[in-house]
Amino acid sequence: MAARPILTAPDPRLKAVSLPVAHVDGDIRTLVADMLESMYAAEGIGLAAIQIGVPRRVLVMDLAQKDGKREPRAFINPKILWASEELATFEEGCLSVPDIWDAVDRPARIKAEYLDEHGKKHTLDADGMLATCLQHEMDHLEGVLFIDHLSKLKRSIALRKLTKAKRLSKAG
Ligand SMILES: [Zn+2]
Repeated sequence: MAARPILTAPDPRLKAVSLPVAHVDGDIRTLVADMLESMYAAEGIGLAAIQIGVPRRVLVMDLAQKDGKREPRAFINPKILWASEELATFEEGCLSVPDIWDAVDRPARIKAEYLDEHGKKHTLDADGMLATCLQHEMDHLEGVLFIDHLSKLKRSIALRKLTKAKRLSKAG
């Protein structure tokens, strides 16, 4: 297992549409392990494979870490089967959009299906943080970042901040 560097916006690779996983095999389990390692190293709660440059429909998540225990989960080829009309608003951040947080409205409840890291199919009813986090991570599979849900003005301010931060980090 190895933590891999996380891409940050405006890296064009984050705009890629990720491809479905044909077979959940050892390579995918290695990818999942590396993604978890990368997510924990960066102190995130969720990560999509494209964020470490791998355009495959694989997500990892751990919403329980705060309590000092780890409950890692993998979602392979996730699909939303149903979403509530009712929306919920959460302050979102993203490992690929460092130091920027903003409120995003998304369906409050969803029904999703996915494969786990053993290739077993699951369906899941989610609300709260889990519903928001899943939708945020699934957006990455379509090349969408949470700042793409913000107003044009807010998004351009965020992108300007990110570009500036990148230039400074390259300089120093
Ligand atoms: Zn993200």
